[in-house]
Amino acid sequence: MVKVDQNKCIGCGLCAGLCPETFQINADNKSEVVNPQDTDCSKNAEQNCPVQAISHK
Ligand code: SF4
Repeated sequence: MVKVDQNKCIGCGLCAGLCPETFQINADNKSEVVNPQDTDCSKNAEQNCPVQAISHK
């Protein structure tokens, strides 16, 4: 399951750009998980998030 910590996310858009089927930037300018399934893409996004807001559990 993919999660985004809303308190850490700075809304840079990187994850939504990499994996639009998993993440979308919401009205609060935070990344929201639209499909919590783990994918290679979501794991790549976790590694590239500048503030380590993405986790897989
Ligand atoms: S990459 Fe990280 S900081 Fe950027 S929008 Fe996604 S969760 Fe937020």
